[in-house]
Amino acid sequence: MESQVREAPPPAREGPPITVLRGVGPRLAERLRRLGLHTATDVLLHLPLRYQNRGCITAIGQLRPGVEAQVEALVTGSEVTTRGRRFLLCHLSDGTGVLTLRFFHFSPAQRQWLGQPDARLRCFGEVRSSYGGGLEMIHPECRRLDADTPPVENRPTPIYPATAGLRQFTLRGLAEQALEQLDAATLLPEWLPPALLAQLQLPPIAEAVRLLHRPPADTAAAELESGRHPARRRLAFEELLAHQLSLRRLRERTRRQAAPPLAGDGLSQRFVERLPFTLTAAQQRVLAEIAADLAQPRPMLRLLQGDVGSGKTVVAAAAALRAVENGAQAALMAPTELLAEQHHRNLRAWLEPLGVEVAWLTGRLTGKTRRQALERLATGAVRIAVGTHALFQEAVAFAELALAIVDEQHRFGVHQRLALREKGRFGGRCPHQLIMTATPIPRTLAMSAYADLDTSTLDELPPGRLPVTTVAAPDSRRDEVIERIRRACRDGRQAYWVCPLIEESEALQCQAATVAAEQLAERLPELRIGLAHGRLPGAAKEAAMAAFKAGALDLLVATTVIEVGVDVPNASLMIIENAERLGLAQLHQLRGRIGRGATASSCVLLYRPPLSRAAHARLAVLRECHDGFEIARRDLALRGPGEVLGTRQTGEQSLRVADLLRDQDLLNAARYAADRLLRDHPERVEPLIRRWIGVGARYGEV
Ligand code: ADP
Ligand code: MG
Repeated sequence: MESQVREAPPPAREGPPITVLRGVGPRLAERLRRLGLHTATDVLLHLPLRYQNRGCITAIGQLRPGVEAQVEALVTGSEVTTRGRRFLLCHLSDGTGVLTLRFFHFSPAQRQWLGQPDARLRCFGEVRSSYGGGLEMIHPECRRLDADTPPVENRPTPIYPATAGLRQFTLRGLAEQALEQLDAATLLPEWLPPALLAQLQLPPIAEAVRLLHRPPADTAAAELESGRHPARRRLAFEELLAHQLSLRRLRERTRRQAAPPLAGDGLSQRFVERLPFTLTAAQQRVLAEIAADLAQPRPMLRLLQGDVGSGKTVVAAAAALRAVENGAQAALMAPTELLAEQHHRNLRAWLEPLGVEVAWLTGRLTGKTRRQALERLATGAVRIAVGTHALFQEAVAFAELALAIVDEQHRFGVHQRLALREKGRFGGRCPHQLIMTATPIPRTLAMSAYADLDTSTLDELPPGRLPVTTVAAPDSRRDEVIERIRRACRDGRQAYWVCPLIEESEALQCQAATVAAEQLAERLPELRIGLAHGRLPGAAKEAAMAAFKAGALDLLVATTVIEVGVDVPNASLMIIENAERLGLAQLHQLRGRIGRGATASSCVLLYRPPLSRAAHARLAVLRECHDGFEIARRDLALRGPGEVLGTRQTGEQSLRVADLLRDQDLLNAARYAADRLLRDHPERVEPLIRRWIGVGARYGEV
């Protein structure tokens, strides 16, 4: 039944369920699931974040605040305080000094054994100075010493990534248990051919895992933590390989499907000839790449990356016309209403003179207009549709969708992108797909996260673009900045004032823009000031943008709704408030709204001191750099791949062991190994994917 809502099955993973481990009941299992641990194998692949050397006991008299230490001492007394927050205090002495342990969460049992006078405890934790002036540890790891307690060991103790309600002690115990099963050779079979391991100088998996969870006495914690240890690299390598295999398989599956071949270039050619400008060499090259793909009876899967302003929309329009020429349909999906509107306006202006109608569909469209739009799409009366993700909702049916174009890909997760392929399916055929992004994906990332896509790059901006001079200024120089706006507008130019996200809520963000607009109107009474934000009724917002575009407004105060798409060549000044809160990619996108005309443009990044070191680094990159690719590269170095790909929040595509920056050198080897494995050991592909990724939910496969 089509309409039936199916729950995505949990990813099928390698190994027995985690509940086979002693002491794991439903509650603990749930907590472990939050860490992504579903099976006993997962426990083995949940590697320590760092290690502590607990080879020595520090005398309390030697303790210093801010240092992690281990002590052994006698309990001299304990109490539960109820002044303010309830907590358990436990006082210790070892003859050289006294130390207090503080617990905010404790069970009656804990209270019992921690509170027994004359009990001997071994505690590990960070030392702090308490309000009273003494020393304390908050929630240290404690164990009671008795005759059977082994002496401290001189080997690195693993510290695992944890979550609320999970103790290191528990995680360590589970790892130990799973290692026992590993020793019995029931977990983690070796899937990599010995020749490959020898060539890469990597150890077998069982050996690697054992070493990382239970490092021998002579291992330096620093080497283990650096990620350069062969044991860690072995696992990173296998994980990268599994991702390669998974994407490769996905790509092959899609490639095996049929797609409508879109040949001929009459209409598309006429469109290009009638444009008021000549295509750049890069645009021509990319269009040829796309045309060649579209002519095939297999679905195109192409990523088009091009810096802000490189002219991706024209390329999209020309590609869409190929569908029209062949009597089929094309859809262009944008991540926001505003950008969808902008595309709709652009495409209409370009295509209507050619007799091609462009439909429009967003979540805001209701009632009769919506019904009509849906009907015209379903019958094929209209051949090009522009909209938001509303385009791909259940109710939308296309007569024959031959090309799906997704703009600003970085706003959509990898998962959504893949789900889209399914959505556009009709009559056993799969539409061609073009993914456009203005956040250039650094090569290393492209190779891993987008291994299922071919890539085209617009590496050239249309002629006449001038780099935007960028400066950062503290809030205290607001007055100067306002004067600057006055001068620019007096000279007939236009300006943007951007109020980005300060609060997590869109409503507050819009309110901030409203307040800023009022204040600026007071200070700049001679200017015509407009306001555009996501909470304004569509018509009001559109009117403000249209007026700005027509030159009827001097200054446009906006939220980040203008981040993508807005195109006003006469605007040559942009002020971005709270710039320190924004990411590099977003700032670069925003700045891309200016520098589109003949006048030199400037961008002022207003920040509120003090600047964190990271924010300082971000703003510096923007001052120095104008090339989106270089910015993306530095962004990757500053933030790490999960953030850059926008997948951190969704948890998608996150790597468990490998680090795309640190393990870059393994990527090529993983690609090569993927080829070999697919050829020589196809039966090992599935188990490797199951081990690292699970099967099913992850990539929206059906
Ligand atoms: P983006 O790649 O950021 O989406 P757009 O497609 O919005 O860029 O193009 C930015 C602006 O450049 C638009 O006004 C567009 O009409 C214009 N443009 C695109 N290609 C060219 C070209 N070859 N020569 C001149 N202007 C161009
Ligand atoms: Mg664009």
